[in-house]
Amino acid sequence: MKAAVVRAFGQPLVLEDRAIPTPEAGQVVVKIEASGLCHTDIHAAHGDWPVKPTLPFVPGHEGVGIVTAAGPGVTRVKEGDRVAIPWLGSACGECEYCTSGWETLCERQLNSGYSIDGAYAEYAAADAGYVGIVPPGVDPFAAAPLSCAGLTTYKAVKMAGARSSDLVAVFGVGGLGHLAIQYAKIAGSTVVAVDLLDEKLELARELGAEHTVNASTEDPVAAIKGLGGADSAIALAVSPKAFEQAFGCLRRRGTLVLVAMPAENQMRLPIFETVLNGISVVGSIVGTRVDLQEVFELHAADRTHVWYETRALDTVNQSMDDVERGRVSGRIVFDLGTGGAPAVQRDRAVTTP
Ligand code: NAD
Ligand code: ZN
Ligand code: ZN
Repeated sequence: MKAAVVRAFGQPLVLEDRAIPTPEAGQVVVKIEASGLCHTDIHAAHGDWPVKPTLPFVPGHEGVGIVTAAGPGVTRVKEGDRVAIPWLGSACGECEYCTSGWETLCERQLNSGYSIDGAYAEYAAADAGYVGIVPPGVDPFAAAPLSCAGLTTYKAVKMAGARSSDLVAVFGVGGLGHLAIQYAKIAGSTVVAVDLLDEKLELARELGAEHTVNASTEDPVAAIKGLGGADSAIALAVSPKAFEQAFGCLRRRGTLVLVAMPAENQMRLPIFETVLNGISVVGSIVGTRVDLQEVFELHAADRTHVWYETRALDTVNQSMDDVERGRVSGRIVFDLGTGGAPAVQRDRAVTTP
């Protein structure tokens, strides 16, 4: 099978021919139809974070496909089912986090496309207990971005506590941001979207953002304060400066939700303003299996729209470059060429000009 492999940090990925995995006990093997390119895969390939993946590895944690084999003891899914392989590849199932609905904080978790091989491949093995079950009516090319970009921003909007009377600021209208706007709208909030590129802001307005700010030409702090300040700000842009602006635009008692993870790994957080303004700063890591089912249910009910562009896996290096330069509208999804279900109309297949 074909797989895209990171052999050295900061070097182009290598397309390799590898053996199709065989399922171990508790695992399934999935024939991948669609595999999303999350900015996290770029951080992984660059070795950007304090905890690095072990080389070589296959990235990809937005993998959707059909179960072709199940190992001993698997009862949750069967051959022929469509499933999603998310970032949370597996967890211990026993610790206080796992048993309290916070399996995303399990200290013994394994992460797809990071600590275990992921979905930039024609087949991937996955723990049957942690795959998402893709309902009928959600096509694989939409399900792929939903299984990280959707899941993560759905959770981040929950962590923001967004309410109908709130102004929610979304910093970064990329793969994650284009879905964050929609979940904030579903919560009933008013949305102000911030990015550096006008095309991204046009998309934001089309997805329901009432206000947009181009941070390359306008100060987002002043602009959002001019709207009365944000009740919450969701930081999805891969830039410490954007985190500081997201903090700066908050009203008193506001909440800053940290989601993006820039390589710099630091932001300036003024203590005085945090204390006097009663600001909450929270980190938000993906979402749980229940969150993922809710994300799929919302999509099946036609309440979200996924913008994606399909490409061949062979374009992986160019595609990562395009994401870093902001040349992508929504998400790139690799088409593994299985002739999966056609995109339904509410999802928009887009092409970069
Ligand atoms: P992306 O590249 O698709 O989107 C980033 C967007 O931010 C782009 O539209 C870009 O133009 C914009 N941007 C860049 N600099 C900006 C600035 N200074 N001000 C405003 N906008 C700016 O990336 P993505 O796939 O959406 O991922 C975003 C980040 O979220 C990455 O760091 C990724 O690793 C992280 N992530 C975190 C989690 C989690 O669970 N916390 C999950 C998935 C991804
Ligand atoms: Zn991701
Ligand atoms: Zn655990």
